[in-house]
Amino acid sequence: MRFWILLCLSALLTVPAVADIFSADDLAVARELREQALAGDGGYEIVADLTTRIGPRLAGSEADPRAVAWAERLLTEMGFDRVWLEPATFPTWHRNLERAQITEPVAFDMVTLALGFSPATPAGGLEGEVVMFDDLAALEAAEPAEVKGRIVFIRNRMRAARDGSGYGPAVQARSIGARVAASKGGLALMIRSIGTSSNRFAHTGTQRFDADTRALPAVAISNPDADRLERLIAMGEPVRAEIEVDAEFIEAYTSHNVIAEITGSKYPEQIVALGAHLDSWDVGTGALDDGAGIAIVTEAGRLILDLEQRPDRSIQIIYFAAEEIGLWGGRAWAEANADNFHNIQVGAESDFGAGPIYEIAARVSDQAWPVIKAIQAELAPLGIELGDRRASGGPDFIPAAPYGMAAIDLRQDGLHYFDYHHTENDTLDKINPEELAQNAAAYAVLAWLSAQSPIDFGSGETLLDEEAARAAE
Ligand SMILES: [Zn+2]
Repeated sequence: MRFWILLCLSALLTVPAVADIFSADDLAVARELREQALAGDGGYEIVADLTTRIGPRLAGSEADPRAVAWAERLLTEMGFDRVWLEPATFPTWHRNLERAQITEPVAFDMVTLALGFSPATPAGGLEGEVVMFDDLAALEAAEPAEVKGRIVFIRNRMRAARDGSGYGPAVQARSIGARVAASKGGLALMIRSIGTSSNRFAHTGTQRFDADTRALPAVAISNPDADRLERLIAMGEPVRAEIEVDAEFIEAYTSHNVIAEITGSKYPEQIVALGAHLDSWDVGTGALDDGAGIAIVTEAGRLILDLEQRPDRSIQIIYFAAEEIGLWGGRAWAEANADNFHNIQVGAESDFGAGPIYEIAARVSDQAWPVIKAIQAELAPLGIELGDRRASGGPDFIPAAPYGMAAIDLRQDGLHYFDYHHTENDTLDKINPEELAQNAAAYAVLAWLSAQSPIDFGSGETLLDEEAARAAE
């Protein structure tokens, strides 16, 4: 009896040395996967086919079911052990036209895109004086009299950064700018595109969806047009603009997550989940966002599928539906797994373009952190360093966080990602197959070693309890 207690205690308390976590055989397979992936194209043919055959695929558009059928067929033909669809229902929207022009003191057309869920203007458009704000906070602080009856222009400029950290602060203007402008009696919202390019492309994107969001027509203008507008306003004369949007709102549409599984040989019920999202914006062809992610995780799965052995745990490749307009596929997946998160070992989504991965970060239990270190040791030849213990797993796994899902981020160099994000310019030529292969190599190694880890990653109560304890410190 005492012996067993001691044994159990030591099992609980002893964290193995990083070098001893994986067997020599498992490490040999990981290294083989890494080399094979680097010798390949990272799934470039997959993203080439998706962007050519299907093209842009906004959730709920005519391309949505074609993309789902394409995905189901691809994954089935690749020989995954199981392929299935999981429904997700959501509100959606589509654009017919948009135009934005400065009319006074000088007339010029701007390059523009309506923001997701923008209502239509009256036919022929609306016209008004432009009032400019530095950012959302300035608009929030404004007196209603400044805003009433005017076209609100938010000029904040997104900062470029490798980790994409400029996006969060800037995107507020897009997410809820129209709602705030409407609350003060504004006529319409016009924002400087949330993007880092100096080319003349507008960046669309969704607004946070709720009933109030649809209160005002909302558009983004290209960075160079926003620059000219700012200079014009600085000259001091009243500036007037005309905006026209025609768009339709769709109350409810049902699409599908497409899921493929490599069934584990020892613990088939335990799942390592790799994700990417299948939908894209309706402009460009969704090559970087997120055709690249689809290619990367699929290629990682294909390499593992080609091994002579099955991994211990199951590996699932999840193509999420309707990420762009509100993480609807991610929400549906989290709800479907609400009672199963103790079995979802870990989740990692590729959704940041095709730039090389430079760091691994993870939200896992204390017990599992040495596993992350051991995985990083196998990623080091790819130029990947050890990051911190904060990770979301990617946008579609955010809805899984309240369930305590362990998550891993393979952080990509995104310095140029927001040059193309949500624009007509997000096309296949922006993807470098060698960088894509580095990504596929990292995901293959990650998925394989996560499936072989002798230590549980702590999803569910363990992780929630540890996080609560850390937060209380
Ligand atoms: Zn995306």
